Amino acid sequence: MLSNAPLAFCVSPLDRAEDIRRDPDALKALETRSDASAIFFLKGDPAICDNGQLLRRPYHLHREAAQMGEPILLGLQEGAPLYVLDLDPDQPTPTGLEFCDTRTASMQLAIAETGILAQARSMIEWRRKHRFCSNCGGGTIQTEAGRKRLCETCGTEHFPRVDPVAIMLVVKDDWCLLGRQESWPPRMWSALAGFMEPGETIQDGCAREIWEEAGLRTNPETARIIDNQPWPFASSLMIGLIIEAITVDIHIDTHEIEAARWFSKDEVRAMLSGAHSEADIPPKIAIARRLLEVWAD
Ligand SMILES: [Zn+2]
Repeated sequence: MLSNAPLAFCVSPLDRAEDIRRDPDALKALETRSDASAIFFLKGDPAICDNGQLLRRPYHLHREAAQMGEPILLGLQEGAPLYVLDLDPDQPTPTGLEFCDTRTASMQLAIAETGILAQARSMIEWRRKHRFCSNCGGGTIQTEAGRKRLCETCGTEHFPRVDPVAIMLVVKDDWCLLGRQESWPPRMWSALAGFMEPGETIQDGCAREIWEEAGLRTNPETARIIDNQPWPFASSLMIGLIIEAITVDIHIDTHEIEAARWFSKDEVRAMLSGAHSEADIPPKIAIARRLLEVWAD
């Protein structure tokens, strides 16, 4: 039952070209190469092909289509430059591009393509929200082919943010705790999760979130990091843990979750095989499912 396959978004074939980014002449030469290609996003969703790949086109044909005229260099794929273009929804879309909802795309694309998708989507979302300096309010410009932004007024450098999220399976003997949110599809249950806060360890953040959401005491010293996964909605890093509960009585915070309950290991095995009579768990792209696989194995 336990899968060793990498999770979606966890494999990327790209060399992020750190050395080239600091060399303006080398960057200019990269843009004119005949093997430079681009992938496309419109309103946060990628253009994809039928063959499990992101749609690529020659970069020089489409450079002008980028929103704000700023293509972002993602890196080199087998030596060839790859850019992402975030298309302006108010301008005509280049012909022949089919856009796909990102979550759907991440289940259809080849694994290495999902890594590119994660990087590209997080970068364009970050850029969209950081056109102005958080230090002085001045306008920012792109530098190093998109790897950072620079405030033209005060000189502050801004780097793409990554938001760490602890996602944890709380266990007690042969039972584990799952919760659900009101907005989720009926039957769907998953591991509890929450953003890390400043000044806490992953293990302490994990225990705090469980206390806040479900009113359970856990032992941070038992927290084991099982896996991690970039999650480009918009730019999280999911840190998957299993942690042991000290108490078992549940007191949920209804602002955070709609319900929480204990499931037996037999029930989890049934959910993993799609055979549970009243509960489902997230699809294979989700790290929550990996936590359940590891625990049930
Ligand atoms: Zn500034």
